[in-house]
Amino acid sequence: MPRKILTIVGARPQFIKAAAVSRAIRETDGLSEVMIHTGQHFDSNMSDIFFEELDIRKPKHHLAVNGGGHGDMTGRMLMAIEPILVAERPDWVMVYGDTNSTLAGSLAASKLHIPVAHVEAGLRSFNRRMPEEINRVVTDHLSTLHFSPTSTAVANLAAEGVSKGVHHVGDVMYDATLFATSKAEQGSTVLSDLKLRPKAYVIATVHRAENTDDPGQLRAVVQFLQERAKSHSVVLPLHPRTRQAASRMGVNLDRLQVIDPVGYLDMAKLLHHAVEVYTDSGGVQKEAYFHRVPCTTLRDETEWTETVTHGWNRLWKGPERLTQREIEEYGKGRAAFDIAKLLASNSAA
Ligand code: UDP
Repeated sequence: MPRKILTIVGARPQFIKAAAVSRAIRETDGLSEVMIHTGQHFDSNMSDIFFEELDIRKPKHHLAVNGGGHGDMTGRMLMAIEPILVAERPDWVMVYGDTNSTLAGSLAASKLHIPVAHVEAGLRSFNRRMPEEINRVVTDHLSTLHFSPTSTAVANLAAEGVSKGVHHVGDVMYDATLFATSKAEQGSTVLSDLKLRPKAYVIATVHRAENTDDPGQLRAVVQFLQERAKSHSVVLPLHPRTRQAASRMGVNLDRLQVIDPVGYLDMAKLLHHAVEVYTDSGGVQKEAYFHRVPCTTLRDETEWTETVTHGWNRLWKGPERLTQREIEEYGKGRAAFDIAKLLASNSAA
């Protein structure tokens, strides 16, 4: 019998990471996979498009849980996930990153004594006001296998007493970027559609609660981008949360080239040809490096410290970028295969 992996995803970055790992699982002997989509992100341009473009099999279970506060959303996910785990009886539950879907999945599984494998284990901002930080810390302490993208993440886990089952595999987002970039170069027409010339525009994303929940903060971020728009077009694929916040708070987005969220291939093409990246996204900070485009992070700290120490990234209120050096930490684009191999060979289940 192949070892059964039950993957739980729900938000955009998780579809992208799971796509890389699912492909590797399909190509690894001794593994089978079943997927739950919690429904946390549900718009077609925040969910369906990633399944189509990245060749992810249709999830067997779709929970349609979204909206509401953290407790409400996480609670409904827990209630919906538990009976599925009881019926599916997987050998591993696999969760990604740091969303409410990650937390609900790891909590439901560990209460049923099903071992949890966490992809992107050990990241820390050391800012407990971020909901993502709470989700990461709890998930890491409930997991049996920890797939860490960087040695800093491994050290963070060690500092919390977590050293068993920790594997520095590199970053599955790099695998995803390699998969998308060549496809995007051939298939995406986004630059001509948006009338953009390579290296003549900036790409920006904003969606973190710390930037969208407070009107003063959102206004400051938008003004920062508007200042940048004096010399280059600033293309802003707007996350639904930010669109709602800006409209509710009356924050004016003039002078920014606001577009709907784009699919992963268009995003890869937009990043690849940008002159600079401005973002509060974890994934986009690293993708900027994968495309060798300098990044400014619209936050006061980052979990991806190596992007700063190696000169590709800076914090918006921090010092200038350092001298650029290559980052070895993220691996060679084989992280997903290493994860699949470890799942196939690990007998903790
Ligand atoms: N992304 C995308 N389309 C967009 C904006 C972002 O495909 O319009 C991708 C981006 O390239 C990255 C991922 O979404 O791979 C990041 O997701 P997000 O910023 O929502 O989450 P985070 O990385 O902060 O957890």
